[in-house]
Amino acid sequence: MDKKKNGVSRREFLATTTLAAGDAAPMTAAAPHETARAAASDDSLNGVCDIHIHASPDSRPRSITELGFARTAQQAGYRAIMYKSNDWSCHDRAFLIREALPGFDVFGSLIMNRLLGDRVNVHAAKQALKTTGNLCRCIWMPTLDAAYHCAREKRGKGIPVLDDSGRVLPEVTRVMELCAEADIIFATGHCSPAESLMLARRAREVGVGKFVVTHVNSLIWTMTPDQIRQTADMGGFVELCCLPCFWGPGTAMPQYPAMSMNAFIDFARIVPERAFISTDMGQAGLPTPLEGMRAAIAALLASGLPKAQVDMMVKETPARLVGLKA
Ligand SMILES: [Zn+2]
Repeated sequence: MDKKKNGVSRREFLATTTLAAGDAAPMTAAAPHETARAAASDDSLNGVCDIHIHASPDSRPRSITELGFARTAQQAGYRAIMYKSNDWSCHDRAFLIREALPGFDVFGSLIMNRLLGDRVNVHAAKQALKTTGNLCRCIWMPTLDAAYHCAREKRGKGIPVLDDSGRVLPEVTRVMELCAEADIIFATGHCSPAESLMLARRAREVGVGKFVVTHVNSLIWTMTPDQIRQTADMGGFVELCCLPCFWGPGTAMPQYPAMSMNAFIDFARIVPERAFISTDMGQAGLPTPLEGMRAAIAALLASGLPKAQVDMMVKETPARLVGLKA
């Protein structure tokens, strides 16, 4: 249903995306007003920080490579990007990408998935923080191997963050301490909303300055507005991802229900001062992270959200979270 609220329907949103995807179309095909619109929307990417991007090399098919997309983002005027690999390290590769693209802020992160063992691995976190370049700016709790995710998909026992009585495990607390000391992001990955609130409480006790609940608008991780406010009240941040607006029937990822742009915008209105927007994109067959971000910004502005608030969510807050000046 293309219900119109906040001024932007899903069809219009996707039309913006198609326009963005028209980068590859012959120049002669674009009417003058379309060219002007494309240029105007490119301006909107100036200063953007997308801190959740998937790229090759990876164990899943991706539409972009880490080096290739960093180059694209730099040319488009982004201020910074951060990669997320569900399996491998990427903070070390970020060091090399920077050698190829001097002056551009590329960051990596580390995820506590099965590759690092069956429990959250404190040693791996310490080593990531010691790696040349100091470019690991986020440690994510387990994602595809998270206990909650595995249980929901009946894939056996996953990696826990809480013990049987619901207390945060000591190794998770230790990783929180490391993130607090290094002043980097501690992100909840694919923990359940209830687990994420437990983690938020513990993170506040530990003194984590950059606690993030991962994609609170996505599938089985969707938080209620009340849970989002609770996270913010405890000093945490919530991440809103564009990806759910791009998958769904008729796309390369038809198995997931598409989120309407209106629903996405509603999430952005809950606690804009403690929320930020990233794409979580890079999947093969879907629009690129750049196209996703451009379309999301256009839709947010068209919905009437003040530009200052949109800038805060796509530029200032994510910049601060990866350690850049706001
Ligand atoms: Zn992701």
